[in-house]
Amino acid sequence: AMEAVRVQPVDLERLAGLLPADRVVRLEAAVEQARAAFGDRVVWHVNATARGGGVAEMLQTLLAYAQGAGIESRWRVLAGDPEFFAVTKRLHNVLHGEPGDGGPLGPAERDHYEQVLRANLADLAGQVSPGDIVLLHDPQTAGLAAGLRALGARVVWRCHVGRDLADDVTRLGWDFLRPYVSHAEAVVFSRREYAPDWVDDDTLWVIPPSIDPLAVKNMALAPELVVGILARVGLVTDGGRESAVDFLRRDGSPGTVRSHRRSGGLLQDTGPPPPDVPLVVQVSRWDRLKDMAGVMEGFVRAVEDDDLLGAHLVLAGPEVSGVADDPEGAQVLSDCREEWRHLGAAVRGRVHLACIPMDDVDENAIIVNALQRYAAVVVQKSLVEGFGLTVTEALWKGRPVVASRLGGIQDQIVDGRDGLLVDDPYDIEEFAAALRRPLADAALAARLGAAAHARVLEEYVGDRHLEQYVDLFSALVR
Ligand code: UDP
Repeated sequence: AMEAVRVQPVDLERLAGLLPADRVVRLEAAVEQARAAFGDRVVWHVNATARGGGVAEMLQTLLAYAQGAGIESRWRVLAGDPEFFAVTKRLHNVLHGEPGDGGPLGPAERDHYEQVLRANLADLAGQVSPGDIVLLHDPQTAGLAAGLRALGARVVWRCHVGRDLADDVTRLGWDFLRPYVSHAEAVVFSRREYAPDWVDDDTLWVIPPSIDPLAVKNMALAPELVVGILARVGLVTDGGRESAVDFLRRDGSPGTVRSHRRSGGLLQDTGPPPPDVPLVVQVSRWDRLKDMAGVMEGFVRAVEDDDLLGAHLVLAGPEVSGVADDPEGAQVLSDCREEWRHLGAAVRGRVHLACIPMDDVDENAIIVNALQRYAAVVVQKSLVEGFGLTVTEALWKGRPVVASRLGGIQDQIVDGRDGLLVDDPYDIEEFAAALRRPLADAALAARLGAAAHARVLEEYVGDRHLEQYVDLFSALVR
């Protein structure tokens, strides 16, 4: 059966407190518009995972505010088997232009995809009422569109992945998806460039993602708390500290960061980075397209040249078992560990692979938050990136970010102003050179960080996102 994810409502006034007056007025107007236009329709979101990855992250936030504003919103997660997720991972890869496992997307895969989604549809049929609005997220859910329309729902398909240039590889994915997507009344992409040419302009909406500054992932943390959290999970030396670290969850209830040395934390026995060395950090899923191995290589290259002020590198990702729809994760992680074992002895102790525990959403989030805040430089050396919420999160925290100039990253960062962009993600020298700049130049790092924070406040906070959803849904039910 599909999983129902419960989200605690959050009062929109909390968000409004961070915004300039004109934006508060606009947001309040959007909420009024939604109440008038939606009536007692429920807004449903369907995706493939309750945690891990950017989509789940955003759903947590936006549904919390929508609920808080009195817009009835519900979240369901697909039930699928490993074969289904292997097919949808393949789709995900080809839409990014990567052949992935190179497996087929033919009639047998289509059959299985449809069979799994039929079972999920039967589940939804008992819950969704005619007139409800259903937002289907990503390739995993596209095949639900026709059945939901037949039930009388208003159906939007939102695709969070994409590639700047369509080619024969991406076409494989679109050929598979087109018959399903064509049943959606509106289609949403994070960038206009991602839409295949057969999507009509009048059904195409462009809505970039957003972050929530108040979420546990992004909220302000005192420096002592940052160190305490990282020490507790063994990511920095803890000076013998044994107590758990307490924090407040998003809903105001208490949470605790516990020691995860057994299930997560650092994966090598070379020990944590010493205090007071600058940390270079990339936080990502263990996905080849995030190029954790390339970050390692670039870091090693930079260190060979001039020691990078003694900097250490932390590559952190989720505990692999926690991401049910990511069957390649375990392989990517084990390849990274293998690559680490082959590093020169001197630099090996300066490179740390870490798994962040996934069993508690808020605990995971506060560890990511602390790691991003502790970082001297945050990198995102993706080979392909739909949008890159990790970049948004790091920019919000005023970190100098070094990232690949592609996908949504190039929308977020103006090179040299809000961060540093690397033109060719396969050029290790270029990456190493860019990495060195903010580490060597504190004034540059501070300037980039300040501009980065301002940029996110301007463009990528949830009010803009909620308003765009209200516009879209209003247009649909008008
Ligand atoms: N993330 C996390 N824990 C991890 C790794 C990633 O919470 O161990 C979060 C990260 O903070 C971000 C999201 O997962 O919010 C990843 O979104 P992004 O758009 O960067 O990439 P995606 O995973 O969707 O490709």
